[in-house]
Amino acid sequence: MHRTPGIADLLYAYANGDMDPVEHAARVLEEIRRWEPKVNAFISLEDPELVLEAAEDAGKRWKRGEARPLEGILVGVKDNISTSFLPTTAASRMLDPYVPPYNATVVDRLLERGAIIHGKLNLDEFAMGSTGEFSAFGPTRNPWSLDRVPGGSSSGSGACLAYAGCDGALGSDTGGSVRLPAAYTATVGLKPTYGLVSRRGLIPYGNSLEQISPMARSVRDVALLLEAIAGWDPGDATSLRTEAPSLSGLKPAEPGEVRVCVPRGLPELAEEPVRKAFYSLLERLESEGASVGEVEMRGVERALPAYYTIALAEAASNLARYDGTLYPMRGESGEYWRYIAQARGRGFGFEVKKRILMGVYVLSEGYRDEYYVAATRLRRLVRDEVLRATRGCILATPASPVMPPRLGERIGDPLKLYAMDAYTVIANLAGVPALVQPAGFHEGLPIGVQFMAGRLGEPQLIRLGLLVEELTGLAEVVAG
Ligand code: GLN
Repeated sequence: MHRTPGIADLLYAYANGDMDPVEHAARVLEEIRRWEPKVNAFISLEDPELVLEAAEDAGKRWKRGEARPLEGILVGVKDNISTSFLPTTAASRMLDPYVPPYNATVVDRLLERGAIIHGKLNLDEFAMGSTGEFSAFGPTRNPWSLDRVPGGSSSGSGACLAYAGCDGALGSDTGGSVRLPAAYTATVGLKPTYGLVSRRGLIPYGNSLEQISPMARSVRDVALLLEAIAGWDPGDATSLRTEAPSLSGLKPAEPGEVRVCVPRGLPELAEEPVRKAFYSLLERLESEGASVGEVEMRGVERALPAYYTIALAEAASNLARYDGTLYPMRGESGEYWRYIAQARGRGFGFEVKKRILMGVYVLSEGYRDEYYVAATRLRRLVRDEVLRATRGCILATPASPVMPPRLGERIGDPLKLYAMDAYTVIANLAGVPALVQPAGFHEGLPIGVQFMAGRLGEPQLIRLGLLVEELTGLAEVVAG
């Protein structure tokens, strides 16, 4: 383990002339050359010459005093977020090779602020998975231990941060997809309040649940990225008409003003090392003067089936557009239905096919009330419980019930795989923000902690996160 400068440090060093964006970009490209053959975090990389040219322009802007907020920062983007200058595959053969005609709103916002997008990051196909193993471009490995997964579905986002192959990253989070990778790679991920960040240009999986979400190696850096991408977008009907919150100048919370509560019974679902790290962090917070309590919450232990029912129903509807006509994968037959079946048979991986079938099933006549409608009722209960609890405190849970699994360890058993999301799906069902950051290590493997606040409680989460970072000293760490 060692430390490497994060976004805030780089901006400071560029401003003072202590570091040059070209020198930095060259170093990041070197890390990518060294690690990529082992890790497979990127699906596509920008031409290194273009990256260095962009860094040179950034250097000039810094010298002229015209630097924008993220000038010369290298941000990797998950490959289900549209870019018109690099292919966007969602890690599916269905979209290989697809180059969108426009950039996602968040991509334009990053570019307008001077960030350099140097590559597109690996993921589980269509963001469906928790380990990164369901990618048509091969699994991503965890830089902290190459026989382990980095978590998914934003597997490349977590992994590139963990080996310093990017300064920041964008992921998407439908049920935990930036928070599991954050937990498994000792990085930070923040799923924003539903509607705070535009989803225009995100290849949809579960629209009512997901948000494009920032990842970085520190809470401060995640705040900088979120500030850059948040805010109303007329191109996304679900985006909130609120001012983008001001997050980058926030100070750590004072321990005395912090109230944290733990949903009763939930941490007990986790493996021993995870539980230990979780409780020892809470003890640490308490000994500094924070109030730590418990809260009774109905329904949260059933969040998982509610989430999967709703997510798969939405997925089945979303993926209906891939019929072999609009996107790259084609069929052959002259007969309509056979043609579609051929395109889908070749284009989708096993997990995606399974999820489409389950999604169609839970929506079908005769089963709809039993599954989909029941799940939406449970969702309302979970949401109400979370909104009630977060009025009085910030909720704390482990980020994942398990340590980072070995490759192949969990994908064979769907129930075991889906159970990895037990803590993270709660925030997606409720639409509230959730932060995951490092809590500690066990036998060299990272462990994450999760905090959830009420709607638009991002400033609260970031202030608590900064305090926790001070207590653990775990910021800006990289593997190797
Ligand atoms: N693991 C969850 C799923 O497969 C969440 C994925 C995500 O957040 N995109 O649905």
